[in-house]
Amino acid sequence: MPRFDVDVLVVGGGPAGLAAARFAALSGLSAMVAEPRQAPVDKACGEGIMPGGLASLRTLGLSLDGVPFHGIAYVDGSSSVVARFANGPGLGVRRTALHCSLSAGVECVPVRVTSLEQGPDWVRAGGITARWLIAADGLHSTVRRCVGVQSFAGTPRRYGLRAHWNARPWSEFVEVWWSRLGEAYVTPVAPDVVGVAILSASRAWLDAFPGLEDRLGKRIGSVRGAGPLRQVVSRRVAGRVLFVGDSAGYEDALTGEGISLAVKQARAAIASIADGDPARYERDWQRITREYRMLTRGLVVATRFPVARKAIVPLSARLPSVFTAIVNRLAA
Ligand SMILES: Cc1cc2nc3c(=O)[nH]c(=O)nc-3n(C[C@H](O)[C@H](O)[C@H](O)COP(=O)(O)OP(=O)(O)OC[C@H]3O[C@@H](n4cnc5c(N)ncnc54)[C@H](O)[C@@H]3O)c2cc1C
Repeated sequence: MPRFDVDVLVVGGGPAGLAAARFAALSGLSAMVAEPRQAPVDKACGEGIMPGGLASLRTLGLSLDGVPFHGIAYVDGSSSVVARFANGPGLGVRRTALHCSLSAGVECVPVRVTSLEQGPDWVRAGGITARWLIAADGLHSTVRRCVGVQSFAGTPRRYGLRAHWNARPWSEFVEVWWSRLGEAYVTPVAPDVVGVAILSASRAWLDAFPGLEDRLGKRIGSVRGAGPLRQVVSRRVAGRVLFVGDSAGYEDALTGEGISLAVKQARAAIASIADGDPARYERDWQRITREYRMLTRGLVVATRFPVARKAIVPLSARLPSVFTAIVNRLAA
């Protein structure tokens, strides 16, 4: 019988991993997070947390500093449409602020996991022995490779870039600017700072969105990138290892739900461990992510075609109740 260092070893200290560690503590399980990057960890992200994700984060007793947004606006050169959230605002939050809040009181060790072994009732990685391992190591998960869970980067290959600018937020919504080459997400994250995340197949930048650059002041900090975004993963449970967040499979950032889904998955994975039924987590993951996978995939595939990209904003403007209903389903 090995000597256990902890009940749950979490690999990766992003939102999924930190939320998992906190849910573990709430379930009476000891947890430790292996995260090699220096705190506060930053990442390429639009930094808009949907109302449903915010509600999940609040179940962890977190208070978050950020700027509320009240819905999603789609804009292009000539038309725009707004969907207001029905059940309270979302929050624009810098990833570094989210990290500080989520990691408070969580035991984190500066370890990059490169290999893993497991037995019938134990798992060991980074020199730490645990009863269970939560893999939360992001899009290009090392743990997936270590345990032989198959994955591949799906098509279309899309990438994300993100930076911040000094600018007083000019909208109470997250604005999604559509162009021929991609989408730019403008999220207020502080009273004088907006983040812009650009998603595209061609690593498009601000010049692909006429009029946007004029609204931005001086750029703050560096540009961060991520991708390819779509990661198709064959399963979520491998022995005593459960995958949460982007490491469990990812479609695209188009609908801005990654953080919300990561927190919901973390809660489900820990609940299945606490109930002694880890196999249940695969079904829970399928349920939690079903609408996101269908709607986000549908939108990404449909808007590959220039004619559909051109039609998306005018069509949404012509059907505002349909647009609002879809946004509110994804926001829940
Ligand atoms: C451009 C862009 C815009 C986005 N916009 C939004 C948005 O507006 N709203 C939203 O909700 N979501 C958005 N997302 C998605 C969101 O960023 C992710 O879904 C979310 O970060 C997933 O969290 P995670 O904890 O699973 O992964 P990550 O945040 O990627 O964290 C993984 C962590 O694991 C660590 N790690 C990696 N390898 C190892 C290892 N071998 N050992 C130990 N640790 C390791 C990394 O250092 C990292 O800290 C966006 C994504 C992109 C790319």
